[in-house]
Amino acid sequence: MELEKKLSKVSKRIKSSLIRELLDLKDPEMISFGGGVPDPDTFPRHEIAKIASEVIENEHRVTLQYGSTGGDNILKEQYIKLLKKHENIDNLDVDNLLITVGSQQALYLLGITFLDEESYCGVSRPIYLGAASAFQQRDPKFINVPLLEDGMDLDYLEKELEKLNKEGNIEKFKFLYVISNFHNPAGVTMGIEKRKKVVELANKYDFIIVEDDPYGALRFEGEKLPSIYSMAPERTILLNTFSKVLSPGLRLGLVVGPKDMVKRISMAKQAADLCTPALTQRIGARYLERFDLIEGIQPTIEIYREKKNLMMKLVEEKLGDIKGIKWINPEGGLFTWITLPEGFDTLEMFEIAKEEKILYIPGTAFYVDEPDNNTMRLSFCLPTKEKIKEGMDRLRKTIDRYAKE
Ligand code: PMP
Repeated sequence: MELEKKLSKVSKRIKSSLIRELLDLKDPEMISFGGGVPDPDTFPRHEIAKIASEVIENEHRVTLQYGSTGGDNILKEQYIKLLKKHENIDNLDVDNLLITVGSQQALYLLGITFLDEESYCGVSRPIYLGAASAFQQRDPKFINVPLLEDGMDLDYLEKELEKLNKEGNIEKFKFLYVISNFHNPAGVTMGIEKRKKVVELANKYDFIIVEDDPYGALRFEGEKLPSIYSMAPERTILLNTFSKVLSPGLRLGLVVGPKDMVKRISMAKQAADLCTPALTQRIGARYLERFDLIEGIQPTIEIYREKKNLMMKLVEEKLGDIKGIKWINPEGGLFTWITLPEGFDTLEMFEIAKEEKILYIPGTAFYVDEPDNNTMRLSFCLPTKEKIKEGMDRLRKTIDRYAKE
């Protein structure tokens, strides 16, 4: 059969993820700065195992059954308490929350709920790959807002919005997608003035703000900033996840937003999977009753902080003399973002990197327009300190070989 002829337009648009392909390179000699996955040794597996066993034995009528599409109310109530304690977010009830299968599903559902082919959505440049692929399925028009060291270039965004306004197209601008803390892939955090400005623009031009914040709890230094959600709860959809603070294997994500929006997103979820697994939701709920997620993650943050500091020291020492190189020193999260001089193509250079047995993610993966080919994402969370040292030597060697060839 000629499969191509059977495929939908959407399916033809879907490309296999470059990251997934690169991470499939399984070679024990390889040092990987590639994947942004947490260190599995940091997962509280004994506690989770105990709770899992208890909720299967004692609560099987819930945990082994279908649940409601909106999600487990016990989990939602626990999460509302957490948002109040750690994020100063008040006045929520269970209808402001939707539990999703990771925040990746929330991104997909946002696409279904808000975007059509004629819609516009604002995204950062570079953009989180998973958001790009979720939104791309709807084939909207992207407004690619350059990222600066303190977050999106809002002057650029404002000009684009004004242009849409003049053309009579501003109503087609549905939402701005923002990763407020420790951006994936770029590592940058949006400063407080910019957060306020985003709200000002959203009020002026009447759009939704989607604030994706999987890394906010992983702050190593600097002051915690108020969420955009807390500044504009009436028009912001906040995405949170258990993936970076407890375990991605549970696949628990949360949408927090105005009730009417949450209801609409929930209606889209019904068609996707009926409900998030009742079992993992109840494990999450009982875990939150007993442990404070944010306090629990502190020892892990210590480990990440040390690794980040080491990597950034080495970037400066080993790569700092390369003329025109730039890098981001993140205040938290899992990534740093390196821009090599003009003329480098990190995807092409990847062939040499493989020979040198060092893995990074070429920046081209993170654009929905013409990519900046000289960029790359490095993650410091998984390799040991020794591997980080050795890996930075290999990276320098790779860069030197590429420059010569
Ligand atoms: N948003 C961002 C910015 C991410 O980096 C990730 C995970 N890499 C996700 C969403 C999705 O996370 P999950 O589905 O595991 O909650």
